[in-house]
Amino acid sequence: MNPIQAIITIERGRIVGIEPYPNGVIIISEQGRHEYPGAYAVPGLVDAHCHLHVLGELLNGLMLYSLSSKEEILNICKNHSTLRGDWLYGMGWNQELWTDKSYPTAQDLDEVFPNIPVYLRRADGHSAWVNTKGMQIAGIDARTPDPDGGTILKDEHGNPSGIFIDNAMDLISMYIPALTQEQIRENIITASKACSAFGITEVHDMDVNPEYLPVFLELAESGALPIRIQSYVKAQNDEWIEHGCLPAVGEFMRIAGLKFFADGALGSRGAAMIEPYADADHHGLILMDENTLFEKAKLGIDAGFSIATHAIGDKANQLVMNAYQQLRMEGIADDHTILRIEHNQIMKEIDIERMHHFDIKSIPQSIHCISDANMAKVRLGNRNSIAYPWRSLIDHGLKPAGSSDFPIESANPLLGIDAYCRRIPMQEKEAWMPEEIITQKEALLSYTAWAHEASGLEYRRGALAIKFDADITILDTDIVSCPVDAIKKTNVLATYSAGIRRFHAE
Ligand SMILES: [Zn+2]
Repeated sequence: MNPIQAIITIERGRIVGIEPYPNGVIIISEQGRHEYPGAYAVPGLVDAHCHLHVLGELLNGLMLYSLSSKEEILNICKNHSTLRGDWLYGMGWNQELWTDKSYPTAQDLDEVFPNIPVYLRRADGHSAWVNTKGMQIAGIDARTPDPDGGTILKDEHGNPSGIFIDNAMDLISMYIPALTQEQIRENIITASKACSAFGITEVHDMDVNPEYLPVFLELAESGALPIRIQSYVKAQNDEWIEHGCLPAVGEFMRIAGLKFFADGALGSRGAAMIEPYADADHHGLILMDENTLFEKAKLGIDAGFSIATHAIGDKANQLVMNAYQQLRMEGIADDHTILRIEHNQIMKEIDIERMHHFDIKSIPQSIHCISDANMAKVRLGNRNSIAYPWRSLIDHGLKPAGSSDFPIESANPLLGIDAYCRRIPMQEKEAWMPEEIITQKEALLSYTAWAHEASGLEYRRGALAIKFDADITILDTDIVSCPVDAIKKTNVLATYSAGIRRFHAE
């Protein structure tokens, strides 16, 4: 597949005509005629693993990331309205970026907010900074003991200082009102529009809170979504069963699958490894063993769901493959059942081979590799497993689905395509393990046709072809034939989903 210059005719959301046109792209639809001189059309770009509502929360909420002083943070907070009932709720502070690197205190907040409760999550999500009013509402005082797996920091007089770590955060957060339906709706819309502006026409939304599903469905039915959403519902603790979720099929919103976790992340040494970490004397964390995954996935498959499991370390990839192999061999997962491994970061070659043999979909995030390369080198040292194995996946017959894991990384798919094709760690000049680089054509396939294969919709999406859904992204550059360093500088000129222009550059 190559980007094309053509006159594309659309009727009722499908492509009905494609004629070569040497001067760019012209789209003719019920909306009229849109001309893009010199431009190129590609099938609408897909992000096959992301967290849509979290992106909306970030874009609409009180964000304190990368601020370099306490004063700056207090100033921004002062001018922000409350977000959760009468609580001021924000996230992203990090005292390591301040001149005074000691933890802030309740008193710092009390000076600005004597009367309204304030709860500010640290950038890593592992602690919260709370004011006195917030602690009063939660009934916290000098006598409150630390909960299991949590710490309440105390000052020299033994009073709680305002910092709550890990499980201690729950002592406060249980008093904060949940988001309203209206806020959930706004978060979804804001994030969807941001995706559309990046040329995205469809996302595979991961770890979706089942309580939000009615809002997603309502937005999809009312035609308010500019992108299509394949939803993978939280399932680690049987949340889907508790809420009585079932698969649902729709043009813009599909409840497609369940999402499990086999291990943690590499940065915090939570990824489960076969050999111990090079920089620590342990093997990481297994969050679900293979028998439990087998049983939980079986229940989901019986209900009609696809199965997606997070696996970062080589041990986690191995155990997920053991469970998936058994599901296939016992006929529980038939040929139509989609089984996916999310991340596939560190892998033994034998497990890549097994993925192909048992038809398992691979969903890597190329951009994680270039953001995390320096950390990954330290964690991994020398071992007989492949890190971020994209070329290896393709050479074994797999078709990795492109994705970003946003908002952990930027939602811009062109940055993911760039990472796939250059593999140059951020702030560096040389590719890391260049033998795992893939071609520009493969990278485009990964973000289009192959991504649709990971949700079983490749028969009608992911190609510019007659009768295919008119999901189209218009770019100012031919990202397959251009010099590789021009991919990053490419601009999205317009995005169409179901034949309707959802975004165009001014
Ligand atoms: Zn994720």
